[in-house]
Amino acid sequence: MFVQIGLLPNTEWLDDTVELTDRREIVVDDRGATSVPGIFAAGDATTEPYKQIVTAMGSGSTAALSAFDHLIRASAPVGS
Ligand SMILES: Cc1cc2nc3c(=O)[nH]c(=O)nc-3n(C[C@H](O)[C@H](O)[C@H](O)COP(=O)(O)OP(=O)(O)OC[C@H]3O[C@@H](n4cnc5c(N)ncnc54)[C@H](O)[C@@H]3O)c2cc1C
Repeated sequence: MFVQIGLLPNTEWLDDTVELTDRREIVVDDRGATSVPGIFAAGDATTEPYKQIVTAMGSGSTAALSAFDHLIRASAPVGS
């Protein structure tokens, strides 16, 4: 028997901020970027197709690296 529970993520509180699908998943690109610059997401609550521990961990790492990359670029002095 395969027990499947909790298919809808708890993302109601994000309404009117980042883009969600009609299944309330946070829309992310392959870098974990959401529709709002500087906000990244990962794991089961996103449009990541597979909901498994190892994929959630991988997408968490990707989102963290993308956030780091975003901060480095966003804080670079103008003209550099
Ligand atoms: C019954 C079941 C069996 C599973 N078996 C397997 C398996 O054998 N192998 C496998 O790889 N995967 C399995 N999974 C899937 C795996 O558990 C998930 O893919 C993984 O936990 C996703 O990690 P996550 O960090 O994205 O989300 P989660 O582990 O769900 O973590 C999200 C966290 O956010 C917290 N949270 C939610 N809303 C808020 C809020 N508003 N404010 C603050 N915190 C909040 C939650 O309490 C939770 O601690 C199973 C899942 C279920 C339900």
